Amino acid sequence: MQAVKAKPQVIFVLGGPGSGKGTQQCAKMVEELGLLHLSAGDLLRAHMKSGTPDGNMVAEMIKQGQIVPSRVTISLLEEAMLKGGKQQVLIDGFPRNEENRSAFESQTGIEPEFVLFFDCPEAVMEQRLLSRQAGRTDDNIETIRKRFKVFVDSSMPIINFYEQKGKVRKINADRSPDEVYADVQPLVRGLQASSL
Ligand code: UDP
Ligand code: MG
Repeated sequence: MQAVKAKPQVIFVLGGPGSGKGTQQCAKMVEELGLLHLSAGDLLRAHMKSGTPDGNMVAEMIKQGQIVPSRVTISLLEEAMLKGGKQQVLIDGFPRNEENRSAFESQTGIEPEFVLFFDCPEAVMEQRLLSRQAGRTDDNIETIRKRFKVFVDSSMPIINFYEQKGKVRKINADRSPDEVYADVQPLVRGLQASSL
Protein backbone atom coordinates (compact mmCIF):
# COMPACT_ATOMS: atom_id res chain seq x y z
CA MET A 1 0.00 0.00 0.00
CA GLN A 2 1.20 3.47 -0.82
CA ALA A 3 1.76 5.91 2.02
CA VAL A 4 -0.66 8.79 1.95
CA LYS A 5 1.22 12.05 2.12
CA ALA A 6 -0.35 14.56 4.49
CA LYS A 7 -1.71 17.64 2.79
CA PRO A 8 0.03 20.86 3.73
CA GLN A 9 -1.59 23.30 6.13
CA VAL A 10 -2.50 26.43 4.24
CA ILE A 11 -2.96 30.02 5.37
CA PHE A 12 -4.57 32.32 2.82
CA VAL A 13 -3.09 35.82 2.94
CA LEU A 14 -5.56 38.35 1.59
CA GLY A 15 -5.89 42.11 1.45
CA GLY A 16 -6.23 44.85 -1.12
CA PRO A 17 -3.48 45.72 -3.58
CA GLY A 18 -0.79 47.57 -1.62
CA SER A 19 -1.89 46.29 1.79
CA GLY A 20 1.65 44.96 2.33
CA LYS A 21 0.69 41.31 2.52
CA GLY A 22 3.41 39.86 0.32
CA THR A 23 6.37 42.20 0.20
CA GLN A 24 6.35 42.95 3.91
CA GLN A 25 4.54 40.41 5.98
CA CYS A 26 5.01 37.13 4.10
CA ALA A 27 8.72 37.89 3.75
CA LYS A 28 9.01 38.26 7.53
CA MET A 29 7.07 35.05 8.21
CA VAL A 30 9.33 33.10 5.87
CA GLU A 31 12.46 34.51 7.44
CA GLU A 32 11.43 34.02 11.04
CA LEU A 33 9.00 31.11 11.00
CA GLY A 34 10.15 29.10 7.99
CA LEU A 35 6.90 28.68 6.10
CA LEU A 36 6.74 28.34 2.34
CA HIS A 37 5.49 31.56 0.74
CA LEU A 38 3.66 31.29 -2.56
CA SER A 39 2.55 34.55 -4.12
CA ALA A 40 -0.06 33.79 -6.77
CA GLY A 41 0.77 37.12 -8.43
CA ASP A 42 4.51 36.33 -8.56
CA LEU A 43 3.82 32.86 -10.00
CA LEU A 44 1.58 34.40 -12.65
CA ARG A 45 4.15 37.12 -13.48
CA ALA A 46 6.80 34.41 -13.96
CA HIS A 47 4.38 32.40 -16.11
CA MET A 48 3.63 35.37 -18.37
CA LYS A 49 7.28 35.49 -19.36
CA SER A 50 6.99 31.94 -20.77
CA GLY A 51 5.77 33.32 -24.11
CA THR A 52 3.11 30.58 -24.38
CA PRO A 53 -0.47 31.51 -25.39
CA ASP A 54 -1.48 31.01 -21.76
CA GLY A 55 1.36 33.26 -20.63
CA ASN A 56 0.25 35.98 -23.04
CA MET A 57 -3.30 35.77 -21.77
CA VAL A 58 -2.03 36.17 -18.20
CA ALA A 59 0.05 39.21 -19.18
CA GLU A 60 -2.97 40.91 -20.71
CA MET A 61 -5.25 40.11 -17.78
CA ILE A 62 -2.74 41.42 -15.22
CA LYS A 63 -2.31 44.63 -17.19
CA GLN A 64 -6.08 45.09 -17.04
CA GLY A 65 -6.30 44.16 -13.34
CA GLN A 66 -8.51 41.16 -14.10
CA ILE A 67 -8.57 37.82 -12.32
CA VAL A 68 -6.92 34.98 -14.24
CA PRO A 69 -8.98 31.76 -14.58
CA SER A 70 -8.30 29.42 -11.66
CA ARG A 71 -7.25 26.60 -13.98
CA VAL A 72 -3.98 28.49 -14.62
CA THR A 73 -3.40 29.78 -11.09
CA ILE A 74 -4.18 26.53 -9.31
CA SER A 75 -1.86 24.45 -11.46
CA LEU A 76 0.97 26.90 -10.73
CA LEU A 77 0.18 26.76 -7.01
CA GLU A 78 -0.02 22.96 -6.94
CA GLU A 79 3.28 22.60 -8.74
CA ALA A 80 4.97 25.07 -6.38
CA MET A 81 3.53 23.37 -3.27
CA LEU A 82 4.86 20.00 -4.43
CA LYS A 83 8.25 21.44 -5.25
CA GLY A 84 8.43 23.40 -1.99
CA GLY A 85 7.73 20.28 0.07
CA LYS A 86 6.83 22.19 3.24
CA GLN A 87 4.14 21.28 5.73
CA GLN A 88 2.94 24.88 6.14
CA VAL A 89 2.25 27.19 3.26
CA LEU A 90 1.28 30.84 2.94
CA ILE A 91 -0.79 31.40 -0.18
CA ASP A 92 -0.66 35.12 -0.84
CA GLY A 93 -3.11 36.95 -3.10
CA PHE A 94 -5.35 33.93 -3.74
CA PRO A 95 -8.29 33.08 -3.84
CA ARG A 96 -9.51 36.34 -5.36
CA ASN A 97 -13.05 35.31 -6.28
CA GLU A 98 -15.58 32.56 -5.71
CA GLU A 99 -14.44 30.62 -8.76
CA ASN A 100 -10.85 30.58 -7.42
CA ARG A 101 -12.03 29.53 -3.97
CA SER A 102 -14.31 26.67 -4.89
CA ALA A 103 -12.00 25.29 -7.59
CA PHE A 104 -9.02 25.26 -5.20
CA GLU A 105 -11.01 23.43 -2.58
CA SER A 106 -12.37 20.83 -4.97
CA GLN A 107 -9.12 20.28 -6.87
CA THR A 108 -6.73 20.10 -3.92
CA GLY A 109 -9.09 19.03 -1.14
CA ILE A 110 -7.42 21.67 1.03
CA GLU A 111 -9.33 24.01 3.32
CA PRO A 112 -7.33 26.87 4.82
CA GLU A 113 -6.45 26.78 8.51
CA PHE A 114 -7.32 30.49 8.60
CA VAL A 115 -7.22 33.64 6.54
CA LEU A 116 -4.98 36.57 7.37
CA PHE A 117 -6.82 39.66 6.17
CA PHE A 118 -4.74 42.82 5.88
CA ASP A 119 -7.23 45.63 6.20
CA CYS A 120 -6.09 49.01 4.89
CA PRO A 121 -7.79 52.19 3.64
CA GLU A 122 -7.77 52.63 -0.13
CA ALA A 123 -6.05 56.02 0.02
CA VAL A 124 -3.11 54.48 1.90
CA MET A 125 -2.87 51.53 -0.51
CA GLU A 126 -2.99 53.89 -3.49
CA GLN A 127 -0.07 55.95 -2.13
CA ARG A 128 1.99 52.81 -1.50
CA LEU A 129 1.36 51.41 -4.97
CA LEU A 130 2.17 54.69 -6.71
CA SER A 131 5.44 54.99 -4.84
CA ARG A 132 6.71 51.41 -5.02
CA GLN A 133 8.38 51.49 -8.48
CA ALA A 134 8.57 47.72 -8.92
CA GLY A 135 8.27 48.05 -12.68
CA ARG A 136 4.88 46.34 -12.78
CA THR A 137 2.54 46.87 -15.74
CA ASP A 138 -0.38 47.28 -13.34
CA ASP A 139 1.01 49.93 -10.95
CA ASN A 140 -0.47 52.86 -12.87
CA ILE A 141 -3.39 54.86 -11.54
CA GLU A 142 -5.85 53.57 -14.14
CA THR A 143 -5.18 49.88 -13.39
CA ILE A 144 -4.87 50.53 -9.65
CA ARG A 145 -8.45 51.86 -9.61
CA LYS A 146 -9.62 48.75 -11.50
CA ARG A 147 -7.79 46.50 -9.02
CA PHE A 148 -9.52 48.25 -6.11
CA LYS A 149 -12.89 47.69 -7.73
CA VAL A 150 -12.16 44.01 -8.41
CA PHE A 151 -11.03 43.63 -4.80
CA VAL A 152 -14.24 45.11 -3.41
CA ASP A 153 -16.58 43.33 -5.84
CA SER A 154 -14.93 39.90 -6.10
CA SER A 155 -12.43 39.37 -3.28
CA MET A 156 -14.26 40.87 -0.30
CA PRO A 157 -17.06 38.27 -0.67
CA ILE A 158 -14.40 35.56 -0.16
CA ILE A 159 -13.25 37.22 3.04
CA ASN A 160 -16.90 37.43 4.15
CA PHE A 161 -17.36 33.74 3.30
CA TYR A 162 -14.50 32.76 5.61
CA GLU A 163 -15.59 35.28 8.22
CA GLN A 164 -18.85 33.37 8.55
CA LYS A 165 -16.82 30.22 9.18
CA GLY A 166 -14.88 32.00 11.93
CA LYS A 167 -11.66 31.72 9.94
CA VAL A 168 -10.71 35.36 9.37
CA ARG A 169 -7.93 36.98 11.41
CA LYS A 170 -8.22 40.67 10.60
CA ILE A 171 -5.11 42.81 10.91
CA ASN A 172 -4.95 46.60 10.75
CA ALA A 173 -2.41 47.11 7.94
CA ASP A 174 -2.32 50.90 8.15
CA ARG A 175 0.72 50.84 10.44
CA SER A 176 4.45 50.28 10.19
CA PRO A 177 5.57 46.80 9.01
CA ASP A 178 6.92 45.97 12.47
CA GLU A 179 3.70 46.93 14.22
CA VAL A 180 1.67 44.85 11.76
CA TYR A 181 3.99 41.90 12.16
CA ALA A 182 3.66 42.03 15.95
CA ASP A 183 -0.01 41.07 15.44
CA VAL A 184 0.68 38.50 12.70
CA GLN A 185 3.45 36.54 14.39
CA PRO A 186 1.49 35.09 17.34
CA LEU A 187 -1.26 33.86 15.00
CA VAL A 188 1.15 31.88 12.88
CA ARG A 189 3.15 30.72 15.92
CA GLY A 190 -0.11 29.48 17.40
CA LEU A 191 -0.78 27.31 14.39
CA GLN A 192 2.76 25.97 14.40
CA ALA A 193 2.55 25.13 18.12
CA SER A 194 -0.79 23.35 17.74
CA SER A 195 0.44 21.14 14.91
CA LEU A 196 3.66 19.87 16.46
N1 UDP B 1 -3.77 37.65 -10.10
C1 UDP B 1 -4.77 36.78 -10.46
N2 UDP B 1 -5.04 35.72 -9.65
C2 UDP B 1 -4.39 35.51 -8.48
C3 UDP B 1 -3.37 36.41 -8.10
C4 UDP B 1 -3.09 37.48 -8.93
O1 UDP B 1 -5.40 36.93 -11.50
O2 UDP B 1 -4.69 34.52 -7.80
C5 UDP B 1 -3.44 38.77 -11.01
C6 UDP B 1 -4.48 39.89 -11.00
O3 UDP B 1 -4.54 40.46 -12.28
C7 UDP B 1 -3.86 40.87 -9.99
C8 UDP B 1 -2.38 40.73 -10.31
O4 UDP B 1 -2.20 39.35 -10.64
O5 UDP B 1 -4.35 42.19 -10.17
C9 UDP B 1 -1.43 41.14 -9.21
O6 UDP B 1 -1.68 40.39 -8.07
P1 UDP B 1 -0.73 40.51 -6.76
O7 UDP B 1 -1.36 39.70 -5.68
O8 UDP B 1 0.67 40.23 -7.13
O9 UDP B 1 -0.74 42.05 -6.39
P2 UDP B 1 -1.66 42.98 -5.53
O10 UDP B 1 -2.53 43.68 -6.54
O11 UDP B 1 -2.45 42.22 -4.58
O12 UDP B 1 -0.68 43.89 -4.88
MG1 MG C 1 1.69 40.79 -3.84
